[in-house]
Amino acid sequence: MTKSSHSQRSGSAARRRLLAWFRAEQRDLPWRRTRDPYAIWISEAMLQQTRVETVLSYWPRFLARFPDFAALAAASEDDVLAAWSGLGYYRRARSLRAAAQRIVEEHGGTFPRELEAARALPGVGPYTAGAVLSIAFDAPVALVDGNVVRVLARWLGCELEHAAALRWAWGEAERLAPRAGGAGEWNQALMELGARVCTPRAPDCANCPLREHCFAREHARQSELPRAKPRPAPIEVELECAWIERRGELLLERRPPTGRMAGMWQLPTVQVAASADGAQLFPTRYASDRIAPYGEPLAELRHAITRHRIAVCVRAARVSGAQASEPLAWVARERLVDLALTGMARKALRALGGAQAQK
Ligand code: SF4
Repeated sequence: MTKSSHSQRSGSAARRRLLAWFRAEQRDLPWRRTRDPYAIWISEAMLQQTRVETVLSYWPRFLARFPDFAALAAASEDDVLAAWSGLGYYRRARSLRAAAQRIVEEHGGTFPRELEAARALPGVGPYTAGAVLSIAFDAPVALVDGNVVRVLARWLGCELEHAAALRWAWGEAERLAPRAGGAGEWNQALMELGARVCTPRAPDCANCPLREHCFAREHARQSELPRAKPRPAPIEVELECAWIERRGELLLERRPPTGRMAGMWQLPTVQVAASADGAQLFPTRYASDRIAPYGEPLAELRHAITRHRIAVCVRAARVSGAQASEPLAWVARERLVDLALTGMARKALRALGGAQAQK
């Protein structure tokens, strides 16, 4: 195929090839072995902004702890956050619990099969609704995520930018989604191709099932499509965390009940230098004046929260007085595993936990 029309590119030959490739090459992921809408919904929520390798360990643990909508609806927010701890974007976990409660109260404990009802659930956007309905129920609905935008823009040749490209991709995805069965498989094939072959920086066109039909390959435009949104510059932030241990307990601090990582637990933390744009992610003083760091750093870590690139220095500290009051609390080390810890706290514990535990 040299010059080809848009409809020829997306014709049945190309679609058959993509499906054949998916059937032969798809990864054997555990959430692909079930049609349970609850299990699929949890996997889709986890996979947003999170690597598959990470979700592989979280998903079965989460399902073991909250096996269905009713169990998740009945769980405390702290328990759900603890099971989510380390996955980041904690609003997803709160929304899951709120949506489970709505599903139990208003939909008899089963995921609604209508697109509009699914979209009305907390945290369920067009992508998630399309994923659950098409994969669990094989409903003829489309979905678009970053992988799908990239594949469609390159395959069919889309010169639009950002929001316009996204709208275009939704139109194309809806046009291409099979009406008479197979939408779930088709949607997963598009996403799988974007994740494995038509990757952002190094698309493997030689091994792509769409290579004979692809606009970007034909015109050597792979690196230009889709038109990239300018990335906001990262913001550097410097933090100090206090590591205070006594008789098998660690002093932790609970984050405020609203805002970023609301209600989660972290090491007592301060921001030691203003970032270039003046962003103040953390307070500049410890939650208690009784906390006094000393000595050389115990660990230096890197962490990222959205566009913030964070350098964390963990220092041994003392605290005067035996009692800890809100937002500080002494937590027994064996209880840490059940706590909704921030990702940064988890990293610090991984870096220091072993050594400290042997003391
Ligand atoms: S041929 Fe290349 S650019 Fe086109 S869809 Fe396949 S991997 Fe992507």
